[in-house]
Amino acid sequence: SSLSTRGDINGNIVPRDVERGDEPGPADQSLLHKMIRRSLVRNRNEVEVLQRDPNSPLYSVKSFEDLRLKPELLSGVYNMGFNRPSRIQENALPMMLAQPPLNLIAQAQSGTGKTAAFSLAMLSHVNPANKWPQCLCISPTYELALQIGQVIEQMGKFCPDVKLAYAIRGNRMERGTKLQQQIVIGTPGTVLDWCIKYKFIDPKKITMFVLDEADVMIATQGHRDQSFRIHRQLTKDCQMLLFSATFEDSVWGFAKKVIPDPNIIRLRREEETLDTIKQYYVVCREEEDKFTALCNLYGGLTIAQAIIFCRTRKTAAWLSVNMVKEGHQVALLSGELAVEQRAAVIERYRNGMEKVLVTTNVCSRGIDVEQVSLVVNFDLPVDIDGNADNETYLHRIGRTGRFGKRGFAVNMVDSEHGMDILRQIEIHFNRSIPKLDPSDTAAME
Ligand code: ADP
Repeated sequence: SSLSTRGDINGNIVPRDVERGDEPGPADQSLLHKMIRRSLVRNRNEVEVLQRDPNSPLYSVKSFEDLRLKPELLSGVYNMGFNRPSRIQENALPMMLAQPPLNLIAQAQSGTGKTAAFSLAMLSHVNPANKWPQCLCISPTYELALQIGQVIEQMGKFCPDVKLAYAIRGNRMERGTKLQQQIVIGTPGTVLDWCIKYKFIDPKKITMFVLDEADVMIATQGHRDQSFRIHRQLTKDCQMLLFSATFEDSVWGFAKKVIPDPNIIRLRREEETLDTIKQYYVVCREEEDKFTALCNLYGGLTIAQAIIFCRTRKTAAWLSVNMVKEGHQVALLSGELAVEQRAAVIERYRNGMEKVLVTTNVCSRGIDVEQVSLVVNFDLPVDIDGNADNETYLHRIGRTGRFGKRGFAVNMVDSEHGMDILRQIEIHFNRSIPKLDPSDTAAME
């Protein structure tokens, strides 16, 4: 690559941050998404645009040519295989490239093209003749910062004069150094040090500031305040761009502090539905019994790919061993795996190398279940109080859109309490879940 990369960016795989049981933390979840994402997510909702000045014209572009990019940057975009702007890019790109600059808050789920959008904006914004940092981008973790860097390097492939620096831990520089790279990506702590303590970066010369993954940022201890402290160093003319995958009130409050008078672009997540899912339950006495029921299902049906959710790592491990003994090709995904390993397991499964994925909660939101024909809740999802966890249930088996492929879901019920949970789920979704006789799978086809 023609972009210079400083320091230890290929460093060690770092232990995961905060984890609740088998649920990866938000930063990990986001990283996993990025690692397994190969294309844009499908989202048929309308993009909502809220302009700070409602009288100014609303631009949207249908092609990258419309943006009048430098030819070498346009080549970089096409070289990545992008043909046309994504839904949010249609609106976000003209705003981000506008003169005079506009401040923007953009919210859209992971995989909708936000990173590509601000990478393009930064590459387009810089003046390569000026040998100092002009764009500053902060990201919640080291790994996420590297992911953004990769996008910029790839997109900037034909822009040899634009250089990139990583302000991340482990990347040490001599005192008195003044960075010459036009784009700096980093984590808040190191960026703050580089601006204030070491003065490697002059924050007054930053003319574009990007805060990525605001929701993950504020979920990480200390990052909120560090972000504000960086923000305070910038001039009032600096263009501010903030991105988030979700938008709870806390994120909104934070975003409004960083950008008081924003233009706003939102793409609401496509709701998952149970409309195209046939749901059943099977009564079992214990784990052995559940396993037998599962084998019966396989005996009676042609199942292209299945995901089986277990409550604990122990059950998941036990089940996968037994499924292998039965001759199935099984992928096991559970909480002790590092993000890179999880990504590799998911990748293999998605490519069809394994037909069964046994997992704890780790991937209930990580993978696209459209290709999966059977989802089994080996254990029903419950919250910490032991009540039905409806949201997780929906994420495990739900699909987006009316034209999603049909699939079916089988819930293993092993106690009175289990039956209660199932009833709660039925009531919550207002759908009855019939009992399946495991010896009579014909009903399912
Ligand atoms: P986000 O930051 O919202 O998670 P990304 O920018 O990482 O989304 O984009 C998600 C995936 O879609 C990536 O694999 C990226 O290369 C690809 N992508 C982004 N923009 C486009 C586009 N305009 N056309 C095709 N693919 C795109």
